[in-house]
Amino acid sequence: MDQAISNQDMKEVDAKKIKELLNRRKGKMKRFLSYCAHCSLCAESCFLYMKYKKDPRYMPSYKVIHSLGTLYRKRGKVDRKCLNEIKGIVWRNCVLCGRCYCPIGIHVPSMIAFARAVLRSQDIHPQHNEASSESWL
Ligand code: SF4
Ligand code: SF4
Repeated sequence: MDQAISNQDMKEVDAKKIKELLNRRKGKMKRFLSYCAHCSLCAESCFLYMKYKKDPRYMPSYKVIHSLGTLYRKRGKVDRKCLNEIKGIVWRNCVLCGRCYCPIGIHVPSMIAFARAVLRSQDIHPQHNEASSESWL
C-alpha cells in the first residue's frame, strides 16, 4: 500500500475538531447553503463544467452541496471515506478561480476554500504523487 495514502487513511477522524471549525463560520456558510435556489445559473460560468461537457458534478452548486453541505448536514460526523470523497470535489473539481457567477451572491470559492480548510484539519489534502493532475491546485 502507498505510504502517503496509508498515513492519511489510518488517522482517526477528529469529529470534535471538524464541528468546532464548522461552528466558527456557521452563520455565513449555512446562509449561503440555504439561499441556493438550485437554479443552475452559475453552471456555465465554471470553465471546468464546460470543459467536462456539462457534467453536473462540475456545477458550482453541486460542488458546494456535496462538500461543505455534506459536512454541515452530518454535523461533522463523517468518516474518512466521506472526507476523501469531498477531497476529490474540493481539490480536483474546483481550482478556486472565482469565475463562477451567482446572481444572488453566493460565493462558491469561499465555501470550497473553507471545506478545504476543514479537510486539512484532518490531514487530508492532495499528496505529492497526485500533483501531476492540472486541477489539483
Ligand atoms: S449558487 Fe447561485 S446560481 Fe448557482 S444554483 Fe445556487 S442560487 Fe443558482
Ligand atoms: S471557483 Fe471553482 S466552481 Fe467557481 S468557476 Fe472556478 S473552478 Fe468553477
